[in-house]
Amino acid sequence: MKEKILGAIKGKINRRSWENWFSTFDVKEMTSEQVTFEVGNLFIKEWLEKKYGPTISKALKEVFEKDMPFSIVYSSATEASVKNVQANEPLVKKRPLIITPLNPGFSFENFVVGPSNMFAYSTSVEVAKNPGKFNPVFLCGGVGLGKTHLVQSIGHYTFRHHPDLRVVYLTSERFLNELVDSIKLGKGYEFREKYRTKVDVLLLDDVQFLIGKKGIQSELFHTFNELYNAGKQIVICSDRNPKDLEKFQDRLISRFQMGIVAEIGKPDREICKKIALKMIEREKASLDMEIVELIAEHFSDNIRRLRGAVVKLIAYQQMSGEKVTPSDAYHILGISSLPPKIGAKERIFLALSSIFGVSREEILSNARRREVVSARHIGIYVAKTYLGMSLRAVAELFGRSHPTVSHTVRKIDELIASGNMMVRSQIEKVVDQLRAEALGQNS
Ligand code: ADP
Ligand code: MG
Repeated sequence: MKEKILGAIKGKINRRSWENWFSTFDVKEMTSEQVTFEVGNLFIKEWLEKKYGPTISKALKEVFEKDMPFSIVYSSATEASVKNVQANEPLVKKRPLIITPLNPGFSFENFVVGPSNMFAYSTSVEVAKNPGKFNPVFLCGGVGLGKTHLVQSIGHYTFRHHPDLRVVYLTSERFLNELVDSIKLGKGYEFREKYRTKVDVLLLDDVQFLIGKKGIQSELFHTFNELYNAGKQIVICSDRNPKDLEKFQDRLISRFQMGIVAEIGKPDREICKKIALKMIEREKASLDMEIVELIAEHFSDNIRRLRGAVVKLIAYQQMSGEKVTPSDAYHILGISSLPPKIGAKERIFLALSSIFGVSREEILSNARRREVVSARHIGIYVAKTYLGMSLRAVAELFGRSHPTVSHTVRKIDELIASGNMMVRSQIEKVVDQLRAEALGQNS
């Protein structure tokens, strides 16, 4: 029954709102006259009553086939979070200061851990479980390697498990804009008051944005001190190590270095594979392992790009209704050439021979037998398009003139465009074989 009720409500709400607001929502009690729900936080309770009251009533009416009154109560904090509330504070639920829009996908559960991010990950988990224990925490690493994901995971976790703590996630850009706006409106005092005294966990992203901006750095310095002295948790992200923040006040840099500096490195190919697999799983889609390897191979330097590649290929597969092949993937992802390897030229003849059953000599001769002509044309096309060879190099390799090569490439393009499946599959076979050999060479 419980599942049925939750299912009915979930069915009426979009996924994002469900994940944002209903993560702690549960049925507490049920009688024949009323249903009592439970949430983890007073603020969420009020919000749900206001925003989702009618939706919940409607769902209950469907399930019970009559009007069913309900109430929402909030469960008192768990033991762990009670410990975190300072002793002199009354156990009154504080309203979260700012409901920061967090990306619902950026959770610890969705984060793949490997050697390059292990330390940053463990530190973040520790911070989320015991805010204030390690202070400050400075997460740094190249673009697209998971800093925002981790810091928002801390946000999700604290929001869910420490309902009493006021958690704020914001980018440094927003921090700056807010200060500027508040000063314009003559409300600089309110800004200070808000960030210096009303925050328990400050998650500040992309602090490198403040490079060279003196005024805001001073503001941050004072905010930092007040929070730090009050034992509040501070987590800062940056695309570089504190010591490399040029044009940053030294006093601020030394503050950043006072606690833990956790660097995220470039992931190795194995983690990239796992990350890609996780993303595919989250999209409830599937891609061949070969494709996953190809993605991991080409996008290991930036996981945001890796994600882009995964999403693109899944979309293509869903739209075309066909499985993506490695050569499709090369096209779609705009990876123009196969990994350049010595001997690629030799290997192209081997591939052509094994696929068309004709010899290298025949391909290079003027023979007009159908298989020979096909092998020659496909070979020229693959060399030009996939191996990224120049017109001249292809002409030399196949012993033909430049115009013949251009003409051949154009003709094959036309055949593909006209939906010639045979040509397409021949090209795929050749490319796949070349790729398999290239991979074999790598390992
Ligand atoms: P950064 O803030 O360091 O530039 P992000 O945190 O925005 O990078 O990460 C970029 C993308 O890569 C996001 O979609 C994020 O979910 C994903 N990502 C990064 N690292 C991981 C990981 N270890 N596991 C799963 N996804 C990851
Ligand atoms: Mg980021």
